[in-house]
Amino acid sequence: MTAQLHSVTGAADTLAVRNPATGEVVGTFPVHTADDVVAAVARARAAQQWWAGLGFAGRRKRMQRWVRWLARHCDELYELGHREGGKPKGDIQFELLAGLEDIRWSAAHAKRVLGEKRVAPGLAMLNFDARVAYEPLGVAGVITPWNAPVYTVLCGMAYALSAGNGVVVKPSELAAATGVWCVESFAKANPDTPAGLAGWVTGFGDTGAALCRSGVDKLAFTGSVPTGRRIMATCAENLTPVLLELGGKDATIVAEDADLDEAARSVVWGSLWNAGQACVGVERVYVVDAVKSEFLAKVKQRAEQVTVGTDPLSDYGPMIVPNQIDIIRRHVTDALERGATALVGGLDSIRPPYVEPIVLVDVPEDSAAVREETFGPVVVINSARDVDDAIAKANGTVFGLGSSVFSREHGREIAARLRAGGTTINSVLTFVGLPSVPFGGVGDSGFGRFHGDDGLREFTRAKATTFKRFGMGQEMQEFPRTDEQFDIVRKVVKLRYGRRFR
Ligand code: NAD
Repeated sequence: MTAQLHSVTGAADTLAVRNPATGEVVGTFPVHTADDVVAAVARARAAQQWWAGLGFAGRRKRMQRWVRWLARHCDELYELGHREGGKPKGDIQFELLAGLEDIRWSAAHAKRVLGEKRVAPGLAMLNFDARVAYEPLGVAGVITPWNAPVYTVLCGMAYALSAGNGVVVKPSELAAATGVWCVESFAKANPDTPAGLAGWVTGFGDTGAALCRSGVDKLAFTGSVPTGRRIMATCAENLTPVLLELGGKDATIVAEDADLDEAARSVVWGSLWNAGQACVGVERVYVVDAVKSEFLAKVKQRAEQVTVGTDPLSDYGPMIVPNQIDIIRRHVTDALERGATALVGGLDSIRPPYVEPIVLVDVPEDSAAVREETFGPVVVINSARDVDDAIAKANGTVFGLGSSVFSREHGREIAARLRAGGTTINSVLTFVGLPSVPFGGVGDSGFGRFHGDDGLREFTRAKATTFKRFGMGQEMQEFPRTDEQFDIVRKVVKLRYGRRFR
């Protein structure tokens, strides 16, 4: 299979999505113009009034209907996802499950997190009733990548819709078929919804840029760091706020007291799942010297059993983008030339569109395979003198998305010292499937959060309402000021703030 077959071919006004392994055209979609994008946002904005008016209970009912519809039609999605990305059906199932959890959780918790709450007014404004509510922003634009096209679309929609917004999704040009299927599923599950509440536009970077400029009230982007920078610059033109979920170079620490079987099993799955095309994939492992050789033997034994191919039940499938294969080749070549050892596979493992598992050992810390996102079925395993050394190395990149640690006794202490949006102890990649904890990065991995209370608040603006319950006679917020009032407040300030307080 030649690399050319993996790409999207775009005519002037349409793009065809092709299966990366077979070249089969899976779907043809419009390349939407800036005017089309503005029209989609206008439809979502009109429909959002109705959606906001339903309140939490009405929205929750419809989000639950959507969950049920997706669950009942899951086989259709497994088939489409397998045809589009060449992925095994298990990979799509994993994405769907995570997406269903996001919809379920966000709908169930929206009222608790966003509903109006009374808060203490404090001493200075004692006579006021104070309340905070989190209001929908209006319309959220959601731009998604090709590597997890089901999960990223469902996740973005879940939090934006549960918070009361309309949404316009621009799925990746390489995964438009599953992206559009996911967006349309909402209206199919809820035929009473006004058209366009959950809308989509398709196209390349220009269509995405048009969505940034369209007047949406927030732009939630999941994708690469360079595109994230461009999106932030474009959104700055209208001061449109952004949520950026970008790349990663996640590290795993294997401590001396780790369960080595569990660590090896998890590292092999975490680095190879989805052919390593995962933002939170395990790309680096730091294993303390004392257990290194035993750990390496276990990783080798497991990685060599992994199956790669077009079979719907393979462990993983083809690389989706030809350029990514070039990056993998560059990283592996550089590492080997600079003295690394290939424990499993090597350059021969790169057979486009497939890349068989590659495990590199003792890779120089300043090499591309350690510092840049590889985004393929390649994992670097390096030594650490001890846990302190492992932590320093794990924290040594510009990224900070996920991380993990294997230790029977010291997992929490090590986790607290890792610079990342999330850390899993004795497992990997849990952030994707766990909707109650925030998911996002630090540094070049981006900012803002999906999931959890923070994920819902991302798609709202905080609204404060204060209500004067009774007058205090001499008001602070009124003229004229009197000496008597000044003296009273002076005493209060000394009494209240001039001594220890809790
Ligand atoms: P990408 O940045 O190339 O493209 C993502 C999306 O942005 C696509 O829909 C694309 O059409 C659009 N786009 C491109 N140029 C644009 C522009 N100038 N303005 C607006 N939109 C534009 O990313 P990709 O290659 O599709 O995805 C892989 C990357 O995504 C990896 O770096 C991976 O780590 C990251 N990712 C991150 C997460 C996360 O949650 N942090 C999840 C999945 C993937």
